[in-house]
Formats: sequence, C-alpha cells, structure tokens
Amino acid sequence: MSFMVPEYENGPFYLTDDGAIPVDAGAPDDFDGETASGWFCRLSAPGYMDATDWNGPYSSEDEARQAIRDDFGACDKCGNDLLETADRCPTCEPFTVVVSDRDRDPDGDEAPAVTLIVEGEGAAEWATRVHQTLGGSSWEAAGDTFAYNMQDTYPGCFDAWQKEMPDAEWDFGQASEPSEEEHATEMARLAAIHGYV
Ligand SMILES: [Zn+2]
Repeated sequence: MSFMVPEYENGPFYLTDDGAIPVDAGAPDDFDGETASGWFCRLSAPGYMDATDWNGPYSSEDEARQAIRDDFGACDKCGNDLLETADRCPTCEPFTVVVSDRDRDPDGDEAPAVTLIVEGEGAAEWATRVHQTLGGSSWEAAGDTFAYNMQDTYPGCFDAWQKEMPDAEWDFGQASEPSEEEHATEMARLAAIHGYV
C-alpha cells in the first residue's frame, strides 16, 4: 500500500451504503439517504486514488484525530505507524534525551558515568526501554522526567545509542565520549582495583 496520510473534513457528508461522501463531491446517483454534519477523517495516499472510507461524524477535530489513532494505529499528524509499545508517533512525538558530560572520578572504583535525562510525554515507557536496551545502571523518576546513570561509556557509544534508540532526539551537546586511549586506561585501572584483567 502506498504511504497514507490523514485527512480531515468538517462539513456535511452524504451517508451512503458505500461510506460517507463529502457533499462538495456531489451527490451520488439516485441518492435519497441522509446527510450528516461534523468532522470526518480518513487515510489517503497523496497522488493516488488509494484511500480508506471516511469515518465520522465526530463532534470535534480532536475526536476525529483520536479515531485515526485508535482505528488505524496511525499518527493523526503524519500517518506513520504508532509504536506498538506506546501510543506514540516516533516522528512527531520524539523523546528528548539529554546526555551530560562524564563524571570522572580518577580515584574512585567505578567507571566514569554519564547521566541521561529522558523527557517527554510517556517518558516512562521509553525509559524502561532504555533501561532494558542500553542497560543503564540506575534510574530515578520525577514526573515525566527520568534520570539514568550510564556507566558503560566507550568510544563510539553515542552512535550506538542513537542506532539503538532512533525514535529519540538525542542531545549530546554537553557530553563527550572517552577516547580509545582514555577508555583503555580507565578499564585497566578498574581491572586492577577489582582484581580482574
Ligand atoms: Zn507523526
């Protein structure tokens, strides 16, 4: 199927056996049914004849938008599939993940950690996924904001995290990855402290 985007129309529709038809499109032949007013919605493929039937009437545009999400599992703005794990469009409703600079403690017995601040509606769902996928060591929540302590930093980890979690807007502005040399030194130091090589 071609890519479908949502369409909304507020106005009178003919209610026919083959679905609702906007009055602007003209009455079907031999039409003797009813008309209905309100918001209607459908998914259609721009440039093609492909479209779903019009659904409606709904009493507000918001309700029509909700119907696109509920009935088609599609984003009411862009038509993308909503994530199965959350009622969320990965394009229009991204999470923000702000990454802090590494907290280095040259004398400590733990690896330098960065903090990931996860913000956005439904951040809990995303934060749980971060926890499972990226393996943050500890996390705490304050409302819609989640803070992660991530000790597993290594050269190239920012790219790897982004690939693992592409439906987030990552902000690495405050952060830096360890260099190969720095990482090797740190690993060797920790191995010596913890007694393994
Ligand atoms: Zn969207």
